[in-house]
Amino acid sequence: MVTIRCAGCSSQFVPTRPTQRTCSPTCRQRAWRRRHRGLPPQPRDHCASCGQPLLGSNSPMRRYCDNRCRVRAYRERLASRRATA
Ligand SMILES: [Zn+2]
Ligand SMILES: [Zn+2]
Repeated sequence: MVTIRCAGCSSQFVPTRPTQRTCSPTCRQRAWRRRHRGLPPQPRDHCASCGQPLLGSNSPMRRYCDNRCRVRAYRERLASRRATA
């Protein structure tokens, strides 16, 4: 028996179909919304690049701890786009 992690609530469940990603229709909707909005549910308090806590951030739009991380994340995004295209 194979269990997978629900894409909506992160709990383990046994899929009834090979393409099933979520344990319930509610979770499927939640996962879909999350994916299409492209934003995490909580406000960001960690650097999106290196994962370090964002200390003393005074801007709610801040996503990276410093300029280096911002540039690195930008380059990685470009590289992954090139890889999938
Ligand atoms: Zn679920
Ligand atoms: Zn960082």
